[in-house]
Amino acid sequence: MTYDPGNIFARILRREIPAHTVYEDDFALAFHDIAPQAPIHVLVIPKGPYVSIADFGATASAEEITGFWRAVSKIAEEQGLTHEGFRLISNSGPNSGQEVPHFHVHLFGGKSLGPLLT
Ligand code: ADP
Repeated sequence: MTYDPGNIFARILRREIPAHTVYEDDFALAFHDIAPQAPIHVLVIPKGPYVSIADFGATASAEEITGFWRAVSKIAEEQGLTHEGFRLISNSGPNSGQEVPHFHVHLFGGKSLGPLLT
């Protein structure tokens, strides 16, 4: 799947539409989900044009991959979630229900999340 530079997260990266940013570095941007499903629901996205986690893992550089996942850990720490725990989800492709075609990780926390649903 080719990357669509008009997707909503690309527009957030270009500051064409606003987001409530909680973290930014050279590799990642993190902002509050517009429809939170937990007390803390943050989306973490890479700066580069990757459609999904499958695309990111297969084609991003080692520096981008390391930088992105270090940012995820840092954000969880900054949100106060490292000790009490949190959950990461990344939908990839049609069967997952991925709606926005820019790789993103959902970071959920702030309550006991219960069993993972399929
Ligand atoms: P799903 O909605 O099925 O979880 P995705 O994994 O693609 O599909 O997640 C897209 C997420 O992006 C949703 O949780 C949605 O609430 C969120 N979202 C959509 N538009 C915005 C926006 N402008 N700012 C913040 N979050 C957004």
